[in-house]
Amino acid sequence: MNLILFGPPAAGKGTQAKRLVDEKGFIQLATGDMLRAARASGSELGKQVASILDEGALVSDEIVIALIAEQLDLNPNAKGFIFDGFPRTVAQAEALDKLLAQKGQKIDHVIRLVVDEVALVNRISLRFEQQGRSDDNPEVYVKRLVAYNEQTAPLLPFYEARNLIREVDGMASIKEVSAEIDRVLALAR
Ligand code: AMP
Repeated sequence: MNLILFGPPAAGKGTQAKRLVDEKGFIQLATGDMLRAARASGSELGKQVASILDEGALVSDEIVIALIAEQLDLNPNAKGFIFDGFPRTVAQAEALDKLLAQKGQKIDHVIRLVVDEVALVNRISLRFEQQGRSDDNPEVYVKRLVAYNEQTAPLLPFYEARNLIREVDGMASIKEVSAEIDRVLALAR
């Protein structure tokens, strides 16, 4: 089973992805984590994307699609993938469909964490204080929200047309969000 965790930055996608990895043995593919790791390692890719990450803009489709393609090839026997922070554009979603189809696979569910953007700005300020991630500073965060609304939200009709969207209240507690996602996955099997 392959899932996409969908929602704006700081909606709780990473928290849920990690939980599903621990509890159900999925493999998490988080392009944001991969890009931050590349930057930390000082690789060519890392240097190429550093300023884009700092600005809160999206890196090119080509770069993130290549990262995902590589991970799919590296994990041929995965029980399932959780895509976290990918796809973020319609071009990425189309590429993902093709990559999975080449392996005889598909996306089974798009779990949409529905959140209140004003509350998210508060949530992110807290994460910035606790974790110190530079693109969580409130000014950059607002840019990431704008990128989400302009470039990523148009994916909703793309997946709605495929009947894949499952909505979950992302403002509930982590425990409640977890239970709701598990319920969706159990019902949908
Ligand atoms: P995230 O941790 O998912 O919020 O991603 C952090 C940053 O990495 C984003 O603000 C973008 O600059 C970049 N990024 C992550 N995933 C993608 C993607 N799928 N497409 C383009 N840029 C991405």
